[in-house]
Order: sequence, then C-alpha cells, then structure tokens
Amino acid sequence: MQGEFTEHTVQQMTVHHTAAELTNNSRAPALARQHQRYHQDSGWPDLAYHFLVDAKGNVYEGRPVWARGDTFTSYDPTGHFLVCAEGHFDRHSIPAAQVAGVVDVLAWAAVEYGVSAATIAGHRDFASTTCPGDNFYPMIADGSLRAAVEARIADGAPTLSIWCGPEATARVAEIEAGG
Ligand SMILES: [Zn+2]
Repeated sequence: MQGEFTEHTVQQMTVHHTAAELTNNSRAPALARQHQRYHQDSGWPDLAYHFLVDAKGNVYEGRPVWARGDTFTSYDPTGHFLVCAEGHFDRHSIPAAQVAGVVDVLAWAAVEYGVSAATIAGHRDFASTTCPGDNFYPMIADGSLRAAVEARIADGAPTLSIWCGPEATARVAEIEAGG
C-alpha cells in the first residue's frame, strides 16, 4: 500500500545523490523509474525527492514540491526542497554538466519558493549518511555550489518547463539512445 502525500512549505534546499553508480547516462531514465518504484514499494507515494538530475544535466520531476519528501534516514524532510543527483559520488566524480543541472534546479527553486541559496545543505548535514558523496559534498561545504546558484539567479533564474505526452516520450528515447 502506498503512503499519502503530506503538504509542507519549502524553507530550505537539500542535495542528495542516488548512491547508485551511473556509468552510462542512457540508463538514467530507467534508473529514475527504478528508484521511484523502489520508493513506492517502500510505502511512499512517489520518489522520495522533488527532482532528479542525470549526468548530462537533464532534470526529471519527482514528487510534487508541495509534498514533503521521504527518507530512510533519521532527519525530518519537512520544509526541505529535495534535489537528487543520479550517481554514486563516493565512487566517482560528478560531471560538470550534472552540477550545472543541479545549479539550475536550485536557482529555479530559490526564486520560485523564496528561499535563500544560503540554505543549501547536503543530506549528511542532517543525518548519518555520506550522501551526496565525498566527491560532491565539498562543493556544498565550501560554498561554491551556493555561489554558483547565486550567480545563476543574478543571470536570470532558469525556468523549468514540464515536458509531457509524446514530446516527453521522444525526449526520454533520445536520452536512452545516448543523446
Ligand atoms: Zn541523501
């Protein structure tokens, strides 16, 4: 049985990784679906996160932002906007295009929900986990991710447009073909 969404108000932004190696980005949509199914099989209504970002910076919608996220760890995700980079960044480095995609999502969310880039943190700041990985977390700890988000907002924050129906199916097929 699947859980229900719980409403919340975004007050801060938290970065994750999937902790599943993504060595070939053509597998990104399949892995995204696999994570969603696993989380739903765990009793949650949808993927734990609001957005996923693949190695090439493509952004995938997870659960609605108005709904609180979920976690297997001990922190309370109420109020957290959750963006998750696909990959295992204890094991491999994060591609620049993926960082750029995460920056876009965070800049969009900061403007859309009126939260400061100063609230950006990593999952490990709240719970006993290495998430979002030793090769990604330093960008959060040293403030460089925050600075990139602030610069992106100053440039004019990105808009996220939702792709649906045949257009989305075609785009996913392109990604799965290596595009
Ligand atoms: Zn995490």
